[in-house]
Amino acid sequence: MKTPLSSLETRLLLACASALLIACLGPAVAQYDHYHAFADQRVWWGIPHAMDVLSNIPFAVGGIWGLVQLWRHRLARSAQRYLSALFFLGLVVTALCSSVYHWQPGDGGLVFDRLGIVLAFAGLLGLALADRVSDRAGLAMMAVVLVCGPYAVGVWVFSGNLLPWAVLQGGGMLLLLCLAWCPPAAETWGIRLGTVIVVYSLAKLLELGDHSVFAWTGGWVSGHSLKHALAALAAWPVLVAMRPQKPVHNGPRSRRAALPALAWRITLFAIFSIAACANRMCATALFGIRK
Ligand SMILES: [Zn+2]
Repeated sequence: MKTPLSSLETRLLLACASALLIACLGPAVAQYDHYHAFADQRVWWGIPHAMDVLSNIPFAVGGIWGLVQLWRHRLARSAQRYLSALFFLGLVVTALCSSVYHWQPGDGGLVFDRLGIVLAFAGLLGLALADRVSDRAGLAMMAVVLVCGPYAVGVWVFSGNLLPWAVLQGGGMLLLLCLAWCPPAAETWGIRLGTVIVVYSLAKLLELGDHSVFAWTGGWVSGHSLKHALAALAAWPVLVAMRPQKPVHNGPRSRRAALPALAWRITLFAIFSIAACANRMCATALFGIRK
């Protein structure tokens, strides 16, 4: 017998439908002209844009580490296992695709870079939903991202409209923020999604300040290189949560037990808001909105 949709699942469905409408009917957004002009152009050992290429190594390390842990300990229920395997595999693919892109930055390489991100993003969003809502919500979200991600990249390639990709990324992070507020579902890992949000928001700020960070550090390291290293830390809360000795959550925490987390949540929301505002200001300054 089919279990009817829970209220959380219904709200998730409505949110996805709204995001789809915005992506399809919203104003077209163009990628800014100098997108590929990264601050750090240094060549080391024959590697062009060496720091932006080599700073992808932490993605590969996090991904391989996670896959080895999954394989060695046969952790978790099947849905969590598949989704986390996809997430860690996505990190390894992201490391490869992003290195290829940064070797010779251009639209062609950026297609591969974004497709690699789709894999990791599908795994992460699916895992977060399986952790906070239900396995089927997690698996459904994984399928949605695996279909809509390449479609959004395709729309950008063939029409130049970046809006569907922006909605996928922004909507996904907003969903993670909402899920960070929810208590873990019964018998799940209880992943600290707030840490993922903080890491991602800081990485986004560094990406936007690529040239400024390069200037501030006297040409030592650029914002984009630091963004790679920091974004790879998104694997850390998942790796910590899936430790074999870690007890699974037995259900939602009581309201009283959740109160001490309020300060942390307010801080989290503030950091996310700052990153979102900075992103918005840069998008206004850098993107041309076409009619
Ligand atoms: Zn990059």
